Amino acid sequence: MKKTTDKNGGAKSGGTNRGTKNGGEKKYGPHTKPYQYFKSSKPEGAAAKTSGSSGTSSNDMLKEIATSSRTRDIIRKHGFTFKKSLGQNFLINSDVLDQIIAAAGLDETRGALEVGPGIGSLTERLAKAAGKVASVEIDRRLIPILEDVLSPYGNVNVVHSDILKTDLQQLWKEQFAGLAGVSVVANLPYYVTTPIIMKLLEERLPLENIVVMVQKEVAQRMAAKPGGKDFGSLSIAVQYYCEPELVCIVPGKAFIPAPNVESAVIKLKRRAEPAVIVSDEAKFFHVVQTSFAQRRKTLANNLAALSGKDRKGELTELLLACDINPERRAETLSLQEFARVCEALIRSGMLV
Ligand code: SAM
Repeated sequence: MKKTTDKNGGAKSGGTNRGTKNGGEKKYGPHTKPYQYFKSSKPEGAAAKTSGSSGTSSNDMLKEIATSSRTRDIIRKHGFTFKKSLGQNFLINSDVLDQIIAAAGLDETRGALEVGPGIGSLTERLAKAAGKVASVEIDRRLIPILEDVLSPYGNVNVVHSDILKTDLQQLWKEQFAGLAGVSVVANLPYYVTTPIIMKLLEERLPLENIVVMVQKEVAQRMAAKPGGKDFGSLSIAVQYYCEPELVCIVPGKAFIPAPNVESAVIKLKRRAEPAVIVSDEAKFFHVVQTSFAQRRKTLANNLAALSGKDRKGELTELLLACDINPERRAETLSLQEFARVCEALIRSGMLV
């Protein structure tokens, strides 16, 4: 297995672990740093059945990584210690992997981008199901482990980088040129779930779908319909670009170490066109964010932050003209209604 020189920063600490109550959201910045990768020396698509590059026996290689015993063996062999700050909970349940792989709809003409391969349990399955796999891992300590356990697979590139700082357009060109389609498939680090999902969606990458393990509450928020407490700006952002579908709920015992929250696999099928047509996307999402600023307030009271108090009467008229009761709360509005309000605000000059 070949390994390129390492130019990137190592593992970033900070953030919260998988057991956060709010789904662990964190701000994210531009993605400008270069990245490094190693590539299997085996020919592409070839999954050898014999030993790995660093003394791993052929028996070990035949056992799936996603079992409690093999995961513990790998961790022990490499002296690996988990970092909660990087959301490191490794999947050890083969049935859950079956469901993830089935939902992703991969075949040898398609590629998969994985965020956070860990010790490679999902990566191994992706290598068997897809034509090409690129896995982006922030933790430098995992790179030699991945080199070892993934050595039988010729179609995997592991990229040592922070996904939030990775130039994904460039990565796409380098890794996935000529493929029929690409899916993002990952057991996400929960402390950065929302920034990762938003980066993938906002960059308008030519991806077919996103199949990810996330904290259960976050999956519920992404898939929520208007009217319930789970419906919010994340639901709207995700549903603007994708059709969400809950695949399965996953208990803590499916991971090592077991997190103290439940997880869920969600599939986000990319829409050919956004769910609603708006003249200015940035303004649309600004209106949505402002409408949800204080969930207990009415729509009119939240939107007054845009119009200014002196134009509150005008704002009330505008909402009524959109056929929307100003006393409603943001969580009851559909995407179409938000689009209507946004266009009316732009026309009125209240939204600059
Ligand atoms: N895919 C493995 C599995 O299912 O067992 C590991 C999943 S674990 C929940 C999340 C992985 O994401 C860890 O390997 C962690 O080091 C990595 N990670 C955390 N933050 C990251 C980031 N910003 N960019 C890339 N990888 C990250």
